[in-house]
Amino acid sequence: MARVTNQQAGGGKVEFSARIGRTALAATFAMAARARALRAAGHDVISLSLGEPDFPTPPHVVEAAHDAARRGETRYPPLAGTEALRAAVAEKYRREQKLDIPPADVLITNGGKQAIFNVVMALAQAGDEVLIPAPAWAGYEQTVRFAGASPVFCACPQEQNFVLSPAALEAAITPRTRLLILNYPNNPTGAAIDAAGLGALAEVIRRHPHITVLSDDIYEHLLFEGEYATLAAVAPDLAPRVITLTGVSKSYAMTGWRIGFLAGPADLIRACTVVQATATSGVCSIAQAAALAALTGDQSHLATRAAAFAARRDLVLAGLAAAPGLSCVRPRGAFYVFPDISGCLGKTSPAGRRLETDGDFAMALLEEAHVGTVQGSAFAASPHIRLSTASDDATLARACTRIAAFCHSLR
Ligand code: PLP
Repeated sequence: MARVTNQQAGGGKVEFSARIGRTALAATFAMAARARALRAAGHDVISLSLGEPDFPTPPHVVEAAHDAARRGETRYPPLAGTEALRAAVAEKYRREQKLDIPPADVLITNGGKQAIFNVVMALAQAGDEVLIPAPAWAGYEQTVRFAGASPVFCACPQEQNFVLSPAALEAAITPRTRLLILNYPNNPTGAAIDAAGLGALAEVIRRHPHITVLSDDIYEHLLFEGEYATLAAVAPDLAPRVITLTGVSKSYAMTGWRIGFLAGPADLIRACTVVQATATSGVCSIAQAAALAALTGDQSHLATRAAAFAARRDLVLAGLAAAPGLSCVRPRGAFYVFPDISGCLGKTSPAGRRLETDGDFAMALLEEAHVGTVQGSAFAASPHIRLSTASDDATLARACTRIAAFCHSLR
């Protein structure tokens, strides 16, 4: 396989593996870096490009971490996670989804991201296809390419509220499909799926026994309307080939603690543990103690925060209604809005930028109106932009005013 070379300033040559060459860093990071640079240059930039809650981690969770460190929980933790946290995750699934998962079938990971890495590396290799309903979080494609497998995007159009249809799923499956990734509530669209929708997808999955499903439920607590549903609970007969991902990053405002959970069939959890053992020696013991406190402590803030995010969604939708050329679907969960911007393409910005793509639009919006977003192409869905609603109301309102003024100014 071809290597990637890099001519060093001193004349030496570093040869990187082919996997580095085929793995691009997510555009979300690039946009945030540009926003930081503009801010450092003195501009008043509003960045709506990153996907993390602006709320603080609950104080009792922070206290639990302090306590664990003082108690001396500072040694190598068990590879698959502490017994207490795995039991708490199993109990969480019983409590919230009526899923009966033994603690032994739970793996604690370094964030949801490592959970995805573990699953993809355990299942997929060169020649395999991983089905990704799009719009999709960029992390999936990156990981699949890293593993040497091929991402296959399955379009979920705005007219269908960005939800995967059974027909589209059926049409995308081939003998090489190893893994299907489902993500509801969805990043970047906020789309959600109910039990009936999952039941219809389950019928297709049943017809193709060679497929495993990763259900990425990281936004499970941020559903604003309807009943939450997850595939392993809706279709228990499929449980032997469904692995479910959750975590504390989004629900408990703990992105920096890097804790994720995988729950699924014992053989797949074992394979994921092998990947994890190869990459790390388990997950920070202090962060695990914090996550345990999050899962076993007061849960009332989950509903409070979901209500706050729902109100912000409404605020942003109302603000963007004044922006000509943008059309939005009402997100049902998560903390993103994903407007279609096709009405702005082919136009020219006040600084003379011709807007041909959503990347042009997002860059012009950042450079000229100082609002950071992410272009839809980063989520395999153009022409769109993604706005994160994880900022306070005043900031969101100011951002919407700038976006509307920018759209009005296009000629
Ligand atoms: N899955 C989705 C859909 C996400 O949006 C993210 C983070 O943005 C993750 C997984 C990763 O979560 P974590 O921050 O716990 O690694």
